[in-house]
Amino acid sequence: MNDTDPGTCPTLRLLVICADEGLSAALSEALAASFAVPVDLAPSCTRAAQLLALHGACYPVAVVALELPDAAEGEAIDLVTRAGIATIALTEVIDESVYQRIAFRPVVDYVDVTQPGAVLTIEQVLRRTLRNAERHVLLVDGSESFADYQAGLLRDQRLTVTVAHSRASALEALRCAPEICLVVVDNVLADGDGVAFCAELRGRHETGSFAILGISGAQDPFVAVRFLKAGADDILRKPFLVEEFASRVNGCLDRLDTVTQVRNQANRDYLTGLYNRRYLFEAGHGLFENARRDNLDLAVAVIDIDHFKRINDIYGHDVGDVALIAMAKVLAASFRTTDLVARLGGEEFCVLAVNPQAALVLMERLRSQAEAFEIPIPGSSELLRLTISIGLCTPLGSSLEAMIKSADEALYRAKLGGRNRVEVVR
Ligand code: GH3
Ligand code: MG
Ligand code: MG
Repeated sequence: MNDTDPGTCPTLRLLVICADEGLSAALSEALAASFAVPVDLAPSCTRAAQLLALHGACYPVAVVALELPDAAEGEAIDLVTRAGIATIALTEVIDESVYQRIAFRPVVDYVDVTQPGAVLTIEQVLRRTLRNAERHVLLVDGSESFADYQAGLLRDQRLTVTVAHSRASALEALRCAPEICLVVVDNVLADGDGVAFCAELRGRHETGSFAILGISGAQDPFVAVRFLKAGADDILRKPFLVEEFASRVNGCLDRLDTVTQVRNQANRDYLTGLYNRRYLFEAGHGLFENARRDNLDLAVAVIDIDHFKRINDIYGHDVGDVALIAMAKVLAASFRTTDLVARLGGEEFCVLAVNPQAALVLMERLRSQAEAFEIPIPGSSELLRLTISIGLCTPLGSSLEAMIKSADEALYRAKLGGRNRVEVVR
């Protein structure tokens, strides 16, 4: 890769274009510490153009002063936005004239640098912008022109946007893109009513899978109330300012983040990020009941790392943790999202797989993958290797607990039989 080629990017960098030396230094220090990436400073538009030629593709976001000695009318902002880089504008005042100069430009946000805490605010906007680049929003609006306008505003926030004009196409979009985390829905759709669609979505999808922002017309103030009662997380009445729209959208996304975080804390194992024992039983009972109702089998596997105590004894507990994390990655990558992979505790894992026919092949593959896996030991050139033993139970038992117990007994036989093997419940 060539350092002078702006088309390729070996590492991410951040760009600060600002003539105020004190502010530039404060931003450089704060952003480098917070994001652990190089921060390039440009005190002028000319220097910014040189840096863009050098590292253009490396900047996901730039922080750009509205006024510079060689660019008094926001030309630096245009330079950066034209390069497709998300732009956070800096001003020394927020008034009508500044608003007029910024509002028509596709900036993510603007910050008044004379306010206390401006550096922290810039850092927060930057974090949000980077995070938004990984998020997908569905916009549902019966009006093509207004949908285009709002989609542009969402893209200015660096969000990926899918536009639908009808309930039917919105449902299809949600089916095709389950990662969608926010639905912005107008009350008027091409084939019906946005409030009813909002209620339908809340009935169909688990709360917390995505946020809903309802957009209501100016005429009927009661639509906003109906949106909230139908399960919308927030509402916005037309006409709205760009800032109001951005603030509601980002507020919905922030709250969804908090819900996801709390959920993860309750359901996930802190070390490996896999589901924890509590969630395994909570969700596992649902999988078990579905299998029983549909007369299907369910594969239950208990997986245990062999001689794990030795790894701790030889290399220390921290390396033991590294091995657990590596093992969890192998496990997570080996099964489908419909399967449930959990850490039962210690160096023991459990998988509930809804495709029991292939389970033995999968487990045998997992065993050999674990055996072949070389885990780098931090601070050492040595590579750690381990093996696993697996107990597998596929015929549907009387309960999930009974199946886990049977799989555990098979695991015990695998240990007795010499470890590094799969034993099946007969
Ligand atoms: P076997 O092949 O029979 O399974 O032997 P083993 O050494 O793997 O099994 P044993 O149950 O004797 O030891 C498991 C060890 O796992 C003991 C415990 O200290 C360690 N352990 C449990 N939880 C953690 C953890 O979170 N991190 C680390 N590093 N070690 C853990
Ligand atoms: Mg073990
Ligand atoms: Mg064990």
